[in-house]
Amino acid sequence: MTAQHIPSYYTASAPPFPVQPALAGDERADVCILGAGITGLSTAIELAEAGYKVIVLEAQRIGWGASGRSGGQAIFGYGCDQAKITALIGQDDSKKLFDWSLEALDLLRERCRKYSIDCDWRDGHAHVPIKPRQVLELQQWQRDLEETHGYATQWWSREQLREQLASDRYLGALFDRNSGHLHPLKYTQGLARAALSLGVRIFENSKVTALVRGDKPVMRTENGSVNCDFAVLAGNAYVRGIAPELDSRIMPVGTYIGATESLGAERAQALIGNGMAVADINWALDYFRLSADHRLLFGGRASYSTLPPPDLAGTMRRRMRRVFPQLQDVKFEQVWGGYVDISLNRAPHWGRLGSNVYFAQGFSGHGIAATGLAGRVIAEAIRGQSERLDVFAKIPHLPFPGGRTFRTPMLVAAMAWYKLRDAMF
Ligand SMILES: Cc1cc2nc3c(=O)[nH]c(=O)nc-3n(C[C@H](O)[C@H](O)[C@H](O)COP(=O)(O)OP(=O)(O)OC[C@H]3O[C@@H](n4cnc5c(N)ncnc54)[C@H](O)[C@@H]3O)c2cc1C
Repeated sequence: MTAQHIPSYYTASAPPFPVQPALAGDERADVCILGAGITGLSTAIELAEAGYKVIVLEAQRIGWGASGRSGGQAIFGYGCDQAKITALIGQDDSKKLFDWSLEALDLLRERCRKYSIDCDWRDGHAHVPIKPRQVLELQQWQRDLEETHGYATQWWSREQLREQLASDRYLGALFDRNSGHLHPLKYTQGLARAALSLGVRIFENSKVTALVRGDKPVMRTENGSVNCDFAVLAGNAYVRGIAPELDSRIMPVGTYIGATESLGAERAQALIGNGMAVADINWALDYFRLSADHRLLFGGRASYSTLPPPDLAGTMRRRMRRVFPQLQDVKFEQVWGGYVDISLNRAPHWGRLGSNVYFAQGFSGHGIAATGLAGRVIAEAIRGQSERLDVFAKIPHLPFPGGRTFRTPMLVAAMAWYKLRDAMF
């Protein structure tokens, strides 16, 4: 049966994308990529631009995973604090990684321009504090960005923020004009269109069931196989059993979004005057933004047990009204969720298995921009320039404790502690 996207505001508002064929029979490519999310498609584009023959195998539809469902907030940096990366690999390499995260934002814009991808991009992002300790944390972060990385952001007082955001919940903002937000499914499908135009072959409904490693890796599906020189694993939290040493180093965590009915241009503008995306810095954070057709897209409510939360729409409504009590009369038209691939230290986990199998995972809920960079860095390595991938590969990654049976309950317990801390201090 042909796979379908999960229903969401994004699937309802993106133009239809032609179904790509399923793999049938044996094929040959220079590079075979598992997964048609941003990571896989970005890798494909870079390699096809360089003349490589590329095949992408997607179990469902293009953008079916996190890339087509996300909050769409494209932000500098990675899933963990930069200070954590510095502690893991030292100041010099950490600085390089930070600079490359800015390149990731440039790359995103460049691809949209080059391939005429219309994905409703809007500039501007604010990290917002709820508690006094978070004000200090964000102000320290701002100083650090400026002094260590030469990256200028703005600190807004509560009153300055209130001029742009109609909520009394927050005590200020760290505002970055260079970050922004987009329609993630339109963007991912735009990348797929670009890849197809470069001669990349994308097979949908083609789940990889096995990767045979060796001098010439083989990716197998139920009805075919691809022999290649290089294999790339870009299956994120959705892939299991293809490379067990990678599975144990990430944990799928559910996160959820609701799209309200259209608020109309005037009411939407009154809510977020400058149209920026917003995220608080709680452990179980709220994040929100306006869509191009004036809806509020409100995300949050992480599920560390991977079970869908009961009464999701009700929970999302309560969370939204805590931020915007003036939206009592506003309903969610769609509520959906997806998995993010968190690593134990929340740092990116990108690298190589043996000499010819590459992977990128561990985006830890911070992948809209970084996935594009991951594709570029992996493509560079396949082309023989692995300097940048080698820096990422220095980051140590431990498996989640507890093995397959106990890691979920242990993580649930750990997260409960962080949520309690957010609630109390
Ligand atoms: C609800 C939600 C909100 C988010 N919000 C944000 C945000 O606001 N900002 C941000 O920066 N990040 C956000 N993220 C994270 C971000 O979306 C991801 O980090 C990013 O999209 C990951 O892209 P990817 O290409 O690596 O993986 P995916 O987009 O998940 O793609 C992986 C693909 O691999 C396919 N696949 C898996 N197994 C196989 C197999 N065996 N064979 C073939 N194909 C396979 C899947 O079907 C899937 O399509 C969010 C994620 C979610 C779920």
